[in-house]
Amino acid sequence: MPESPYPLILVEEALAIIEREVQLTPIITLSFDQALGLVLAEDIFADEPMPPFTAASVDGFAVIAADGPGSRRIVGDQMAGYVAGMQVEPGTAARVTTGAPIPPGADTMIMVEQTEEKNGHVNILAHDLQPGANIRPIGQDIETGQLVLPRGIVLAAAELGLLGTVGKTTVTVYRRPKVAVMSTGDEIVEPHEQPNPGQIRDANRFTLMAAVRQAGAEPIDLGIVRDKANSLEVTIERGLAKADALLTSGGVSMGQLDLVKPYLASRGTVHFGRVNTKPGKPVTFATVNGKPCFAMPGFPVSALVSFEIFVRPALLKMAGHTRIYRPREQAVLAHRVSHTAARTEFQRVVLTRQADGVLVASTTGFQGSGRLLSMVGANGLIVLPHGQDDFEAGTVVEAMILGPVQME
Ligand code: AMP
Ligand code: MG
Repeated sequence: MPESPYPLILVEEALAIIEREVQLTPIITLSFDQALGLVLAEDIFADEPMPPFTAASVDGFAVIAADGPGSRRIVGDQMAGYVAGMQVEPGTAARVTTGAPIPPGADTMIMVEQTEEKNGHVNILAHDLQPGANIRPIGQDIETGQLVLPRGIVLAAAELGLLGTVGKTTVTVYRRPKVAVMSTGDEIVEPHEQPNPGQIRDANRFTLMAAVRQAGAEPIDLGIVRDKANSLEVTIERGLAKADALLTSGGVSMGQLDLVKPYLASRGTVHFGRVNTKPGKPVTFATVNGKPCFAMPGFPVSALVSFEIFVRPALLKMAGHTRIYRPREQAVLAHRVSHTAARTEFQRVVLTRQADGVLVASTTGFQGSGRLLSMVGANGLIVLPHGQDDFEAGTVVEAMILGPVQME
């Protein structure tokens, strides 16, 4: 048996190396409405207060609280969107809509439901009139000069709305990492093709490109590459020229046509070429001219689980995220799980939350590295540490949470 020249390292060591080597993508300026999911690279302050004027928060009548309940003469309408220029004096009321400026003189808003209007007058039915009620003072939500969004925050729905509010129409963010993705193997054909004997259709390019997109990065499709040194080199170079990172699958085992590692080694530094993990032992990480290159094993589950463990955190870090790892939580095994003590194993499970709050892990079935069906519906990976044998039902293990957990 030929020995791999690469030492077998621990998952934690591999992650530390990746964290050390990957760099942030360049900061770019973007229209704010294109920035969903990106990480802000600047602090955003408000130049103006919100609301910028004293505003009604209900439809109704602006009055003077000290006048108490009873009838008042209506002096006019103040609708939202302009300043009508009227004055509310004792004994009068202005009809005001939600979001409209409160006319000077008035100090409270009475909801329309608590009024009766007749012959140019309004009868205030409310008994307890409080100054300031149903009125939003200037700066109630945002004060002038306030830091509304700090650098490093991820721009989601509320954040984009706030950028709109403060009129910050262009923002600086970390550019979405571009990731060139390719499949390797003489046996791999396109999904629309009918495989000849000995061939199979490509799965990995599609799982990996989707996973790249789900991690907030932008995949570039390099297609399928044959196990020929020349084609491999041309395609890897094309990927490195176009992208911030390279992601390959297949061709990293000990087969004689496993050409990815040697080529990466000839072009840059292979930081590791084997990790003590199952699946994904031959997972490889290199840098070429500072660009991270991840070579996933070919088995579809190995490729996707390796992406989850090693590549996703790297892409998040490149894009400026600081929380790059999946949350982990203790889960109770619903059944016995067999485990090879030699390696840290990531098994696919469905996590559900019991009424008492306990997280329960149930297997997705046969955990073969080729059985992509074991990832379908999985919202978690249980982490079975090396050095330990099989786990009995009821054992508490650590689980990585990959998706929403349903209540049982
Ligand atoms: P390799 O890592 O190239 O030795 O491949 C390991 C196993 O994964 C082999 O059975 C391959 O046929 C299979 N495999 C490799 N690449 C792909 C792919 N893109 N889609 C589906 N299966 C693949
Ligand atoms: Mg292969």
